[in-house]
Amino acid sequence: MIEVVSAERCIACDKCVLACPTNVFDTGADGVPVIARQDDCQTCFMCEAYCPVDALFVAPTTHPAAPEGLDEAELAADGRLGSYRAHIGWGRGRTPGARLAVGPELPGAARMVAPSVREPEPAATTTPATPATPATTTSTTAPAQAGAARKAPTP
Ligand code: SF4
Ligand code: SF4
Repeated sequence: MIEVVSAERCIACDKCVLACPTNVFDTGADGVPVIARQDDCQTCFMCEAYCPVDALFVAPTTHPAAPEGLDEAELAADGRLGSYRAHIGWGRGRTPGARLAVGPELPGAARMVAPSVREPEPAATTTPATPATPATTTSTTAPAQAGAARKAPTP
């Protein structure tokens, strides 16, 4: 559940207000979000993930951590402010968590990796079953964009 918005760190970007799916925040007069409807928090961590300056703390509980709230200075001192964002690797200089995730090999996962980091595919050893269909157009004008690399048919 959302516990702390650090006014000291907040740069009033409104990202947490927009990211929250249950409209927990109101924007304060100074631009710093106010936890207006804590009971509506579903502990999804999205606000903390999107905060660019690690100004939020969502506790991993579905009820308020303490009636008087948590101590911001203590959270900041032990690195818990914004720690969810840090753990998932969002933010400049961090490694996205998806690159560190472990799990079973997914079918076709290699195709989902960007070509620049993909392992080279082995050379084909068999002839394609179906030969390429010859072009039927007689136009001698080279196509403008997608087909630009294709050779114009011989007249
Ligand atoms: S944890 Fe999710 S539901 Fe709770 S305030 Fe943040 S964005 Fe909203
Ligand atoms: S995302 Fe962070 S910096 Fe932006 S308004 Fe919310 S608490 Fe402040």
